[in-house]
Amino acid sequence: MQVDDVRRLLLGTFVRPPEETGDAPRVEAVYGYAVPHASGLVLLDTGIGAADEETEAWYRPRRVPLEQALSRGGWTLDDVHLVVNCHLHFDHCGGNPLLPGRPIVAQRTEVTTARAGGYTVDVLVDFAGVAYEELDGEAEVLPGVHVIPTPGHVDGHQSVAVVCDDGSIVLAGQSHDQASQWSADALAAQAGEMGHAQPLPTYPPWIDRLLGFDPRQVVFAHDAAVWLP
Ligand SMILES: [Zn+2]
Repeated sequence: MQVDDVRRLLLGTFVRPPEETGDAPRVEAVYGYAVPHASGLVLLDTGIGAADEETEAWYRPRRVPLEQALSRGGWTLDDVHLVVNCHLHFDHCGGNPLLPGRPIVAQRTEVTTARAGGYTVDVLVDFAGVAYEELDGEAEVLPGVHVIPTPGHVDGHQSVAVVCDDGSIVLAGQSHDQASQWSADALAAQAGEMGHAQPLPTYPPWIDRLLGFDPRQVVFAHDAAVWLP
């Protein structure tokens, strides 16, 4: 598998209202990623779930059905071997119930939080055939597919580093809303080795772990922009 074999899936869009942007409404995309691993297709995130009336009116989501998004890459739901959710908010795990029996990789703390209620859409958390693979920290869930905790947006957030034949790609999920925020943190992490002395900005400690994969690309759940080293 090559880095370019990892495909972005547009799973929908929503409109963040002025009350949240502090400015004008902003259209945001929801991206999943499909990794054609030798063991089978790995998905990072599955789309926007159906929320309650109030949430629907607030965010005005437009969904791309997971089947349709997968078909653009020539795949069907049956091809999906493993799901990783960066976290369990309803805009990331909406298609999980379409994939009963497939392992869903999430941090244990994230599953616990989601099951406590009031966190996401409950029917997306537990449904017939749900099969979580709960992690306590980092794990290589398939050869070359590393799941790495990246707390921040939520405590149980995680990202994926995929080691391909021609280098690595980091599927950061919502570690940052925008690629430029990652870029700033990556520069902060590298400032010391570039010869900058303190005071320097702080950055999340897991940035070092992700940069350790020497990624050729870092991609995100809500930003079409791609970080290149
Ligand atoms: Zn999100």
